[in-house]
Amino acid sequence: MTSCKVHVLVLPYPAQGHINPLLQFCKRLVAKGVKATFVNTVSLSKSVPADPKSSINFETISDGHDEVGYAGAESHEVYLKKLRTAGSKTLADLIKKLEDNGQPVQAIVYDSFLPWALDVAKQFGLVTAAFFTQTCAVNSIYYHVYKGFLKIPLADSPISLPGLPLLQPKETPSFVYLPDSYPAFRELLLNQFCNVDQADWILLNIFQKLEEDVLNWMEKIWRVRTVGPTVPSMYLDKRLEDDKSYGINLFKPDSSLCINWLNKQPKGSAVYVSFGSWTEIDVEQVEEIASALKESGFKFLWVVREFEKEKLPSNFIDETSDNGLVVTWSPQLEVLAHESVACFVTHCGFNSVLEALSLGVPVVAAPQWTDQPTNAKFLEDVWGVGVRAHADEKGIVRRETLVSCLKEIMEGEKGKKIEENVIKWKNLAKEAIDDGGSSDKNIVEFVAELAR
Ligand code: UDP
Repeated sequence: MTSCKVHVLVLPYPAQGHINPLLQFCKRLVAKGVKATFVNTVSLSKSVPADPKSSINFETISDGHDEVGYAGAESHEVYLKKLRTAGSKTLADLIKKLEDNGQPVQAIVYDSFLPWALDVAKQFGLVTAAFFTQTCAVNSIYYHVYKGFLKIPLADSPISLPGLPLLQPKETPSFVYLPDSYPAFRELLLNQFCNVDQADWILLNIFQKLEEDVLNWMEKIWRVRTVGPTVPSMYLDKRLEDDKSYGINLFKPDSSLCINWLNKQPKGSAVYVSFGSWTEIDVEQVEEIASALKESGFKFLWVVREFEKEKLPSNFIDETSDNGLVVTWSPQLEVLAHESVACFVTHCGFNSVLEALSLGVPVVAAPQWTDQPTNAKFLEDVWGVGVRAHADEKGIVRRETLVSCLKEIMEGEKGKKIEENVIKWKNLAKEAIDDGGSSDKNIVEFVAELAR
């Protein structure tokens, strides 16, 4: 371990899918001798107090909704606006406070969703690193839209971009092929590029072999470095002691319930279904998933968020209790690593994708919105670790489609090829973050340059 006195602030966008990768990156920095301070929002830090035993320091900034966070905002627009104004001010206050306390900050690793953090950091002369939590492919698509090289609304023909396979319009992020949906989020995603040219580094939560072609293109524009996968070390290189979970859970997992249930299931028998922390599932879609799980006869563990439980068909839980378990939040890493789990029905949020790849679990991809359709395309056609459950014209994946995808993975010929690919990617993910791997070398280089 190279010991240095550099102090780095790490600032995620306040959501589970962003906290996880940035917190893991903090742990990697600490392991390389850096003093790392993780900056959460006041509201989220209330629901998840910082662990006093942690080797990471914890500080907060305001998102303008200190009581309840996002839930307290009237709209996405209002939340993002307040996050920017209150966040900029309180980030500047924090940097000053740390300076006054004799803990001056030299660099900031900020979530690319928060480009205003770069402007604040520049006022203090800090080194800046934008951390992208989505794939290079997705970043490239947004960049081309931002620059006007890819015009929206898209024409009804395949899209060709450097280093990417031909993409059908529906395989681009939803904010691109449906530009009128969630304009505030579209703006947030495109704005990642508004000042990125001024960032000293661009860090990517992928590993080199995962997206080599598009990475080659991106390296021509910016100083990019891959630093992923940011999955806890115990599931990969095992070099970080006790690093078994991300450490900040915005929802309480039903851990013993899930693991006790999985322990009772035969090896390779169960389907795990989860759509992450954000996505709201249409009631019709919930019904189709319920019917598919019931009809397929496979064992299943299904995460149905508390606010969506009312969408379940009445009696579903009782009727399927011999075969399945429904929980409101799972310890996902432990679940994916369990030998009873054979397949992951996922919304294709990028953390879930990286976890499936790193832990070697084949997927049925059921993307809902944002970057998920592009991730699903890659899972099936580029990485070959799953099949896509295609939605009908109403945007719903029907039960027959889901059952047939599950059978393909669990029993079909394609499942065997997928199994080989799954092992390949699992090994490559571990290799990248292990001692001397491509991501490990990049983190060493980043830290060495900060220490100079
Ligand atoms: N997750 C979890 N338990 C669950 C569902 C999700 O721990 O029941 C974690 C999952 O491991 C992942 C994160 O929540 O790290 C979700 O991030 P992702 O990018 O997959 O989806 P998002 O929530 O951002 O849509």
